[in-house]
Amino acid sequence: MSENIRVIENATCTFCGCVCDDQILTVDMDAKRITKVQNTCVLGRAWFTEHAHEDRPEAIIGGKEATTAEAVEAAAQILAAARFPVIYGLSDTTCEAQRQAVAIADMLGGNIDTTTSVCHGPSGIAFEGVGESTSTLGEIRNRADLVVFWGGNPAESHPRLFGRYAVTPKGMYVPNGKRDRTVVLVDVRRTKSAPVADIFIQVKPGKDFEVLWALRALVKGRPVDPGIEATTGVSLATLEDLAARMKSCRYGALLFGMGLTMTRGRHFNSGALLALATDLNRYTHFVAKPVRGHGNVTGADNVVSWQTGFPFGVNFSRGFPRFNPGEFTTVDLLSRGDADAALIIASDPASNFPRAAVERLGEIPVIVLDPKATETGRLARVAFTTATYGINVPGTVYRMDDVAIGLRPAFDSPYPSDEDVLMAIKQRLEELTGAGKGAAAVAAQGTAAGPAA
Ligand code: SF4
Repeated sequence: MSENIRVIENATCTFCGCVCDDQILTVDMDAKRITKVQNTCVLGRAWFTEHAHEDRPEAIIGGKEATTAEAVEAAAQILAAARFPVIYGLSDTTCEAQRQAVAIADMLGGNIDTTTSVCHGPSGIAFEGVGESTSTLGEIRNRADLVVFWGGNPAESHPRLFGRYAVTPKGMYVPNGKRDRTVVLVDVRRTKSAPVADIFIQVKPGKDFEVLWALRALVKGRPVDPGIEATTGVSLATLEDLAARMKSCRYGALLFGMGLTMTRGRHFNSGALLALATDLNRYTHFVAKPVRGHGNVTGADNVVSWQTGFPFGVNFSRGFPRFNPGEFTTVDLLSRGDADAALIIASDPASNFPRAAVERLGEIPVIVLDPKATETGRLARVAFTTATYGINVPGTVYRMDDVAIGLRPAFDSPYPSDEDVLMAIKQRLEELTGAGKGAAAVAAQGTAAGPAA
């Protein structure tokens, strides 16, 4: 090991939506490697210590190595010529890069969508229809005496959620930690999360909505047919017990995952759970939060919402943002053969989209920004190697509870950031399409004749 060692305290792990910002990194600055990580989990340790740029070219155009500048030109030419460009991904990059992506979609009259559309998109739809009784994870840690996990397996997907926020930590109003909390896990099967639960409730697959609706009825004091057990696999006595616990706790939290949002019922399931939380607020304080996956998928929701008014699946083709999941969500528009160019940022749809959508990606020019080699990168016309956010790139990310957190990178990368590449593409697009001339003229006017109004 070299002598050039640096210790970075309060670094942020961007591997999962917990976005733990208490990591202590020991960095070998000569080898540009993170050799030790404290306060982390098995996923976070792998994220930091296994990070190494393969010796990849700056960019690839049509299978041949190229410079970043050449790739910017090629990407801008593709996007300027497209009639229906789609921009997709964004969950593993900074808010600063996400903002540039929205600006490009707006400038081109294109389509912008994020990985939310294939994970918690139904929750985004439900938030609009039902509302959200929300909180930070810190509030849950300090106050919650009843925590219900629904349709998720945080022990494997978000390993520090239990220890840092929702199960074992001691909080201001739960000073004895786990002993002051009741933990309930609702799922279709026993997972590695089940051992932390005081109560495990097994629901028949696809019957979450019925269970949630029965709980709503019980919370409101309405009768429920004992035949609910035959339908859902959960006895009426179990539901009555849970409803009573929910009404009598001091502070309850429903933390729900993709087992709820991406199964039969989708946004109806999310809506039913959010409505249950609302009902419970007649009796006590209850919150409901989605457990989000990728490091900055919550940032993607926030940035796209700030700038368009909608969280994902947004189309600018009429000169103003329109939101229509099923029409402007990337899986759907690719499967219909609608898009004629794609800009994919920090995501690998070719490895997880349905076949029809992937086939469409194979037919149109694709531009990819990613620190690592991916399936989507392999089919790309233009592929950029970019630096990794959080390890090489500073910026802002959002934790799953919508709290903004800054990044403290460990060492520089030879590659540009996603934001740098997107800004360069945007600048070249302004030249090619004439977009932005109006804004430039207004700015120039403001400079010449005093500040613009
Ligand atoms: S829980 Fe998630 S954010 Fe926290 S250290 Fe583990 S992988 Fe990283």
